[in-house]
Amino acid sequence: HDYTKDDIRKMVKDEDVKFLRLMFTDLFGTIKNVEVPITQLDKLLDNKLMFDGSSIEGFVRIEESDMYLYPDLSTWMIFPWSTDRGKIARVICQVYRPNGEPYAADPRNNLIRVLGDMKKAGFTSFNIGPEPEFFLFKMGENGEPTLHLNDKGSYFDMAPMDLGENCRREIVLTLEEMGFDVEAAHHEVAPGQHEIDFKYADALTAADNIQTFKLVVKTVARKYGLYATFMPKPLSGINGSGMHLNMSLFSDKGNTFYDKDGELEISQEAYYFLGGLLKHARSFTAVCNPIVNSYKRLVPGYEAPVYVAWSGSNRSPLIRIPSARGNSTRLELRSVDPTANPYLAIACVLEAGLDGLKNKVEPENSIDRNIYRMDAQERQQSHITNLPDTLHNALKDLSADEVMKQALGEHLYHSFIEAKNLEYDSYRTQVSGWERDQYLEKY
Ligand code: ADP
Ligand code: MG
Ligand code: MG
Ligand code: MG
Ligand code: MG
Repeated sequence: HDYTKDDIRKMVKDEDVKFLRLMFTDLFGTIKNVEVPITQLDKLLDNKLMFDGSSIEGFVRIEESDMYLYPDLSTWMIFPWSTDRGKIARVICQVYRPNGEPYAADPRNNLIRVLGDMKKAGFTSFNIGPEPEFFLFKMGENGEPTLHLNDKGSYFDMAPMDLGENCRREIVLTLEEMGFDVEAAHHEVAPGQHEIDFKYADALTAADNIQTFKLVVKTVARKYGLYATFMPKPLSGINGSGMHLNMSLFSDKGNTFYDKDGELEISQEAYYFLGGLLKHARSFTAVCNPIVNSYKRLVPGYEAPVYVAWSGSNRSPLIRIPSARGNSTRLELRSVDPTANPYLAIACVLEAGLDGLKNKVEPENSIDRNIYRMDAQERQQSHITNLPDTLHNALKDLSADEVMKQALGEHLYHSFIEAKNLEYDSYRTQVSGWERDQYLEKY
């Protein structure tokens, strides 16, 4: 929506909005809220609302902690679950420095910058269709998550009133009230696991939508006594949660990935973009799969990708080309998980694809057989490499990739690598239950 300041003032009055929730996202992808009473509306609309940025992950040194929140009026939305004390509206903001420059460590500002580079390269929009998955666990007495799945028991297999299904339905209805175009919602392979797909949008809107989506899922689940988690692999031995990203690049002539005369009806641009994605896959994995636990999902046997390869027919590789053509022609990246900061992840995959286009990077041949049945030698002959197997190894690749540095900008690139190396070190120095079970008595 292209709301003006006056549109906003009118909606506040008509709907009796009492609080404003100003949203932005930190380095780790966590949504940050600054809630202010409606009396601050004029200040907000005049870009004069200040906050202390020093406590935000990945933001500033103490000496320049005063930051401004500039509202993106197109993201204005009144929450459907407002209280009896009046309604709450949210607006997504850009973080600005006191000197009037967009703050480079704000992941959303960074994506806007990369989208600017894309426009200079002659494209109009990068479209993203995400497929986020999540688990619903029963909530404990104090509102804490448990590891009890809600639909695990076989007694109620055919029960018409499954709590999880009802909860998912309300999530979908709430999303629709908030303007989402939900295309599909279904139970996933694992017990307690769900997927909700909403219609693709331009990269910035899609990233905003992913953040709003997570908030809605968690909020509605609570109402049902359920705890929603986007942790990639909460339980050993069963499928983890991913967030496939479907992507296409449009110019004023339409979808540049489609060419009815091309091989597989895919354009040369699409092949170069694909080449770029494959070339940088190992390094953007650190950003698309950013937590220690992400790598417990990227293992063979659970439908998650493990090897760097693509296919036009097979569903198992890192990148798939779904069969739809015309405006729906797209590449599907299957490694991403929902803990990725969507602004950073999308900036990285776009920069990778643009690098492929600029340098005419041809992808390796497609792999249309089951890679998991190939042995190491056959994979080597087909030039198939592995995705990184730990956060540590992914960070090593990210640290050596100049194109990814360009994707994130100096500030975010360095603070991401530093923070994530600390996270990995903290994990590495812990002794786990598995180790005690295996070794305590044996040695
Ligand atoms: P899958 O077959 O992998 O389960 P889904 O049907 O669940 O795929 O999701 C497909 C996603 O791709 C949806 O979000 C849809 O809006 C999106 N999509 C469709 N066309 C395009 C396009 N041109 N660019 C990007 N995403 C697209
Ligand atoms: Mg799907
Ligand atoms: Mg599916
Ligand atoms: Mg799925
Ligand atoms: Mg998919």
